[in-house]
Amino acid sequence: MNDYRNERESMVKNQIKARGIKDKRVLQAMKSVPRHLFLPAEARKYAYGDSPIRIGSGQTISQPYIVALMTELLEVHDDHRVLDVGTGSGYQAAILAELAAEVHSIERHTALAERAEETLKNLGYDQVHVHIGDGTKGYPSASPYDRIIVAASAPKVPGPLLNQLADGGRLVLPVGSRFSQHLEIWDREGEDFRKSSSIPVVFVPLIGDQGWEE
Ligand code: SAM
Repeated sequence: MNDYRNERESMVKNQIKARGIKDKRVLQAMKSVPRHLFLPAEARKYAYGDSPIRIGSGQTISQPYIVALMTELLEVHDDHRVLDVGTGSGYQAAILAELAAEVHSIERHTALAERAEETLKNLGYDQVHVHIGDGTKGYPSASPYDRIIVAASAPKVPGPLLNQLADGGRLVLPVGSRFSQHLEIWDREGEDFRKSSSIPVVFVPLIGDQGWEE
């Protein structure tokens, strides 16, 4: 069976390294995780292309470069506990699991969450815990988190996510209008929060109490 190893190597070289991602742990994680197994069978041959791909329920798995960029911006250490909002296929959660001690991933669509959980379990990612619910409220019972990543766009940074960041923690998320956003990076020092901005992006909307209306 094709394990897509060559496609993965070339994705990392041509789409990710070539655009300036340097973090060796991130590059290694992107080389290791079998992205095609997070996609429905008929979409697997497109898994290593330079674009987002439909995964059902009107949602997408993000473009490989965007996954790599957000993960590099997150600066994950191996003792970190991470919250991943918008599980989708579970691919980003697997990348985080390669880098962190524990990952909590939350998804509002039950069908996606269940499929992602099964994929992650089959691949042995026992340190990932998938939850169903509104991730704009975070996942308080396992907080605080050293890192939080959001893979859907918010009109503004959700307060509960800032509250659930540990001291010294970092949150990366797309913020803007429904159709165009910038990646924002929020760092917590005690009760102070510092914001910086990265590149323009386009994400599906974050729908929920602290996000967009359905
Ligand atoms: N990280 C995913 C992956 O690796 O496949 C891709 C995420 S996709 C771009 C965005 C996901 O966010 C969708 O699956 C969508 O259902 C989910 N989402 C949107 N609003 C949400 C919310 N309030 N709570 C949890 N998930 C949400």
